[in-house]
Amino acid sequence: GLSQPNVPLKPRYVRVNTLKMDVDSAVQELGKLYKVQKDETVPDLLVMPPGSDLHAHHLVKNGRIFLQGKGSAMVAAALQPEPSWEVIDACSAPGNKTINLAALMKGQGKIIACELNEERVKRLEQTIKLSGATNIEVVHGDFLGLNPEDPSFAKVRAILLDPSCSGSGTISDRLDHLLPSHSAVYDSIRLHKLAVFQKKALAHALSFPQVERVVYSTCSIHQIENEDVVSSVLPLASSLGFELATPFPQWQRRGLPVCEGSEHLLRMDPEEDKEGFFIALFTKTNKLDDLES
Ligand code: SAM
Repeated sequence: GLSQPNVPLKPRYVRVNTLKMDVDSAVQELGKLYKVQKDETVPDLLVMPPGSDLHAHHLVKNGRIFLQGKGSAMVAAALQPEPSWEVIDACSAPGNKTINLAALMKGQGKIIACELNEERVKRLEQTIKLSGATNIEVVHGDFLGLNPEDPSFAKVRAILLDPSCSGSGTISDRLDHLLPSHSAVYDSIRLHKLAVFQKKALAHALSFPQVERVVYSTCSIHQIENEDVVSSVLPLASSLGFELATPFPQWQRRGLPVCEGSEHLLRMDPEEDKEGFFIALFTKTNKLDDLES
């Protein structure tokens, strides 16, 4: 493949699977081989020097830690599900965020992990098995085909939506323009198609009756997959009582100032943060609570 000149500069992140191991034990164990620090933003996330190769480490092999980038690990943490909740992971394979949810929920409550692609369902099931989580129900199907009025979703309080995206925030995608087959026209058609699905899926997520928190994420740097998707659902969101909340308020880089509420959105920058990522968080404020307070 292509050489990846900026890979060595990228810190290596692992998330401790707190279903199987506590963070301090992981720091101690990994500290025998690497310089390990706790990430300053995301709980349970450890950061190691660029180039640290953990693929064959016993803690990875036995599911005590998972290789997971910082952006990815911010998504479930932004959703902040309560342990007792029912949660849908709408586009879930290979399952990194699904099992991240399971750990945050301390193995309690229930996670419905939906995935359309059959091959990827198998990877999802492997990830779940390795994680030791027992509260995840895998649904092989189209998230858009799940009926929000179905009684089996009546108790769903939160949805994590990490749909297919261009991946333009990742290093390999940013090198794609070097390929001879690269075509700008193809790119713009592909982005448009992705954005159509992303908007539909986000609107669908907001329409589940008991859902009060929805997180939307991409590893894309494109406005069309990020701010534009959020902005397209704002009228629907507000008619349903949702507003944009601010995930990780201390984080500096926010949404591009192209839509209402962009200051609530979270961006990671490929240069500054070594990966491109986007997170939006919708929360429903309980009208009754407001009246009582
Ligand atoms: N959240 C995953 C993780 O952290 O490991 C990564 C998800 S990946 C960006 C998007 C996934 O959505 C792909 O596995 C894709 O097959 C799946 N997908 C695409 N369209 C879907 C649909 N309509 N319903 C359910 N899953 C879908």
